[in-house]
Amino acid sequence: MTIRTQGYATHSATGELSPFSFERRDPRPSDVVIDILYCGICHSDIHSARNEWGWTTYPFIPGHEIIGRVKNVGGKVTKFKAGDLVGVGCLVDSCRTCASCKDGLEQYCENGFTGTYGGEDRIGGTPHPKTFGGYSDKITVDERFVLSIPQNLDAAAAAPLLCAGITTYSPLKHWNIGPGQKVGIIGLGGLGHMGVKFAHAMGAKVVMITTSPEKGEDARKLGADEVLLSTNAQAMEAAQSSFDFLLNTIPVGHDADPYMKLLKRDGTMVVVGAVEPLKQVNGIPFIMGRRSMAGSLIGGLPETQEMLDFCGKYNIVCDIEKIAIRDVNQAYDRTVKGDVKYRFVIDMATLKS
Ligand SMILES: [Zn+2]
Ligand SMILES: [Zn+2]
Repeated sequence: MTIRTQGYATHSATGELSPFSFERRDPRPSDVVIDILYCGICHSDIHSARNEWGWTTYPFIPGHEIIGRVKNVGGKVTKFKAGDLVGVGCLVDSCRTCASCKDGLEQYCENGFTGTYGGEDRIGGTPHPKTFGGYSDKITVDERFVLSIPQNLDAAAAAPLLCAGITTYSPLKHWNIGPGQKVGIIGLGGLGHMGVKFAHAMGAKVVMITTSPEKGEDARKLGADEVLLSTNAQAMEAAQSSFDFLLNTIPVGHDADPYMKLLKRDGTMVVVGAVEPLKQVNGIPFIMGRRSMAGSLIGGLPETQEMLDFCGKYNIVCDIEKIAIRDVNQAYDRTVKGDVKYRFVIDMATLKS
């Protein structure tokens, strides 16, 4: 027996997402079966659905910002019971034995984590060889990879916390951002808007660094203290050597040099958006100020739960636009154009209509 599931899949790199029926596995002893309520649309979903990173196999079901309620659990599950509000992010399994997994940093699993979609199921015996994501009405996931969602958070607006949220929270925590520090968030999109909210809640002075003057007012509403226009050469010059930390969410390759010069001595810029080559990097800003550039990938399961609890405490969610699943292809086109504030979330109840 398997679990009959309804979702939306794409069947080729140029195809649109359309209704698709498939099977999920029955719960193993440590599995949780989740009725999906909401799923966010991450830019990675689009890159993957269109095979822009070259690893996609079809049929393909995206979605790794999943919120739902526990339907039933396997016999050995201890953390969850039917009715609990839960989340699933970018990972559904990892090797669990390597140094990174032992440190709760499953996203850096040395044997390769199992992605929520397009991943290779490690155990086998499942209805499909590749994992299918959250644009669907149900999912079966090992309890270790399931997260508790604080009751006070809006369930739909919490969905993008599972990817956009943890991607920005993790580096801010790792580099100990807090009061007395000046933090720049570069780029105001799905990631950037969460970076502003988190850095503000952590007590830092937050500067939105953007190419778009019209984004300034929005950034201030989200918690930015100042706005720096990266297209204004004079303002960029005046801001040199003044930042303790930069969170760079620009989603494409770009010239990192002007940003590196904004850092104080020993400052760090962390790249979380550009999974493609940056333009040639100049060594001078690194050498002259002992500055660093680093990268960061989502977060492990313990830190993702910590982030969700932090959001519950400070009442932080994402700014979203809720859509019916039949409008998902249009939402993809709008996301690519940057025409969303700041994340689309699919209401999975619309799968039935
Ligand atoms: Zn994502
Ligand atoms: Zn591992």
